[in-house]
Amino acid sequence: MIDNFLGRISGFWHAVIGRLFYSSPYDVKIKIRSVRRIYVEVDRATQSFRKKVGLGCPDRCGHCCANSNVETTVLEMLPLAEELLRRGEAEAWWQETENRDFPGQCVFYIPDEGEQNQGRCGVYALRPLICRMFGYTGNKDKYGRIRLVACNVMKKLLPHVLEEALHRVDIGKDQPPVMADVIMRTSMLDPELTKESIAINTAFRKAVERMWLSRRYRE
Ligand code: SF4
Repeated sequence: MIDNFLGRISGFWHAVIGRLFYSSPYDVKIKIRSVRRIYVEVDRATQSFRKKVGLGCPDRCGHCCANSNVETTVLEMLPLAEELLRRGEAEAWWQETENRDFPGQCVFYIPDEGEQNQGRCGVYALRPLICRMFGYTGNKDKYGRIRLVACNVMKKLLPHVLEEALHRVDIGKDQPPVMADVIMRTSMLDPELTKESIAINTAFRKAVERMWLSRRYRE
């Protein structure tokens, strides 16, 4: 499979891609380490915000994951692609994305039997930013004030807690991490691999292909 993929790229493009890839100030390992560091910081910030305002996802809620429109960038899927390559599972998951409709539900979502909206993430530690921040992130209005972006499930199940959280953010008492600021940090690591948000399965697929290329040029 990997040979099929690499075989489709001509010698000329091998040279161009190799040169582009390695002329970057960051090589792929450093980028992955940097993305992982951002994940740790974002987790700390969201956990601290959640604790302060008392917000939390309902147990086994899978509404976000069951949605077929989860999007992310290729860069954010590199840590997962690297880990699955290390475990020897990347090719099977790459194939799984081919078998699914695009954009399609995330291949890593494990729904409970007979209940699409309940389940769990199969790659929790290496999930991308949107999965870490959804429900606990802010955006900035035209005056630069931070506003909490509310989750519909929490709106229904925790209306009073959410109302209080929205108020505390509005008056500047508590501050959720701002998605645009985090995205800016990742885009500085690699403008090319963050230039667009695409369906999560496609982003994963491209991340695995990028890792295959990276390995090929290291050989
Ligand atoms: S990576 Fe995990 S948290 Fe994100 S959509 Fe897929 S299953 Fe859900």
